[in-house]
Amino acid sequence: MLTVEALNKIYKTGDKALSDVTFTVPKGQVVGLIGPSGAGKSTLIRCINRLVEPTSGVVKLNDQNITGLSNTALRRVRRRIGMIFQEYALVERLTVMENVLSGRLGYVPFWRSFTRRFPGEDIAKAFRLLDRVGLSAHADKRADALSGGQRQRVGIARALEQDPELLLIDEPTASLDPKTSRQIMRLLVEICNESGLPAIINIHDVVLAQQFTDRIIGLQAGKIVFDGKPSELTEQV
Ligand code: ADP
Ligand code: ADP
Repeated sequence: MLTVEALNKIYKTGDKALSDVTFTVPKGQVVGLIGPSGAGKSTLIRCINRLVEPTSGVVKLNDQNITGLSNTALRRVRRRIGMIFQEYALVERLTVMENVLSGRLGYVPFWRSFTRRFPGEDIAKAFRLLDRVGLSAHADKRADALSGGQRQRVGIARALEQDPELLLIDEPTASLDPKTSRQIMRLLVEICNESGLPAIINIHDVVLAQQFTDRIIGLQAGKIVFDGKPSELTEQV
């Protein structure tokens, strides 16, 4: 579960990016975060994964306050948050399996063929995840041999490999065609719902958000202007 309480962010430049933002995401729920450019969506995501220190307010991950932590504690907290990116952020020269296993480490090792250094249970788990995202036949392919949709599936498996307690997903379909976008959204929401993983998807495509997410939070000028069922979303958000 993720709890955000009275979050405010004022940048040094004086820009007020978040204003009293409060919400809770229960286990298994996928929230679509929408709003115009400059609304504060990225700032909110960065306050949660703690790349940005909020000016005030509290972020709790499964009831643990993760604001105001030491750097060491912060690194540990980040390992509990799975990130999925628009441009996938795969290591192109590594295989699909190696990319997924790097999610377990949280960094890409410099040794060649590092797969054999992992215990069998980690490899077995990576295979299960690749199977779940429909890529088990491609484990040994290099990432740069994959299509965009396949790359994003690797990105999803890599994020899941670290056993996250929360997924933060930044514009996962912005580089994909409409059909692949729908497949990826459906897969993400199914996985979160079935595994009880809470997720926030920063998504500019309101139609996709409405079609696939469980709940929509609309931000405008740093404030929540809508929080509810996708079917209840009004046009002005
Ligand atoms: P969105 O992701 O919805 O486009 P952002 O969170 O990027 O919105 O931006 C929200 C506001 O904060 C904007 O006014 C933006 O100019 C400002 N902002 C974002 N990042 C910074 C930064 N690093 N320094 C100063 N102002 C920033
Ligand atoms: P190529 O000549 O085919 O481009 P590379 O040197 O890019 O060969 O990679 C060959 C193999 O070496 C990769 O498939 C991978 O298994 C391994 N490898 C390359 N870079 C790394 C790295 N940073 N960490 C671990 N293994 C690597």
